[in-house]
Amino acid sequence: MTTVIDGKQVAASVIDAVKTASEALTKETGVKTGLAVVIVGNDPASHAYVGAKGRMAKECGFTSVQHTLPDETTQEELAALVQTLNDDEALHGILVQLPLPRHLNSEPIIQSILPEKDVDGLHVVNAGKLATGDLDGGLVSCTPAGAMVFVKRTHGEDLSGLNAVVIGRSNLFGKPMAQLLLAANATVTIAHSRTKDLAAVCRGADILVAAVGRPEMVKADWVKPGATVIDVGINRIAAPEKGEGKSRLVGDVAFEEAAKVAGVITPVPGGVGPMTIAMLMANTVIAAYRKAGRKAPKF
Ligand code: NAP
Repeated sequence: MTTVIDGKQVAASVIDAVKTASEALTKETGVKTGLAVVIVGNDPASHAYVGAKGRMAKECGFTSVQHTLPDETTQEELAALVQTLNDDEALHGILVQLPLPRHLNSEPIIQSILPEKDVDGLHVVNAGKLATGDLDGGLVSCTPAGAMVFVKRTHGEDLSGLNAVVIGRSNLFGKPMAQLLLAANATVTIAHSRTKDLAAVCRGADILVAAVGRPEMVKADWVKPGATVIDVGINRIAAPEKGEGKSRLVGDVAFEEAAKVAGVITPVPGGVGPMTIAMLMANTVIAAYRKAGRKAPKF
């Protein structure tokens, strides 16, 4: 029997733990966890994400601040806002919603966020801590942190002896995911667009993680029988069966066929997706604990 991971349920359990942790911190120290989200421009998808993050932060008992800046905001104005948020003692996490409008350069903005407030885990200091195995000192990028929760709930904390293959080498997902798996003692292969005979590489994986952005690329015969398959891809494809002009979301894994071979698999939607926002909340409360000089909880 294949287990299909219910990402919404796992995310809800993380959110519950975050709520408990943030209440405990307030009770013990008087500190209320604070998250600031910055959005520039009018992209509807970005506004929907930011709205969801703000609502979730409130649900977790955080102070939630949203800064909505117009499309014509300059690099200097955005940098000045980040500086103000860095200096605000009541805020423990800062998230600048990406992508920024094309005239803005996101990299210097991200790198100007204080690493201890970089709850997206994109600052080079946080990437560096992860790369050097300092998992307790930095903040880990939310989507790989969420995917890792699934892996650990399936296989436990120690992945010794297991082969893991991550397809994709982005800074946002592939690289941090591979480092998390390595830190948990898996034997890790990072595959990408130049990998030869990708199907054969994937067939060696006890844990197969796909983060490519190609609809249903990973087929059943790429999956080792009984493997754990984590699908990070979010791809919108045409769905004429739902009516003219309709679309639907699919992952990077051909779910129906791969589920017949895998031991554990995540669906799209409803798998990794809900975990990203849950881990953002987890990172924010972790940042608040550290600022208060308390040992941060693990999620
Ligand atoms: P990305 O930066 O575009 O990276 C894609 C990676 O896939 C690259 O390393 C690329 O290799 C590799 N690749 C492309 N075509 C390939 C092929 N034919 N065979 C093997 N590897 C191939 O994407 P990303 O930001 O990591 O995101 C990947 C997917 O995850 C997207 O669908 C995205 O929407 C989704 N995602 C979801 C969440 C979430 O659930 N919240 C968060 C982040 C990302 P090269 O490096 O050689 O070009």
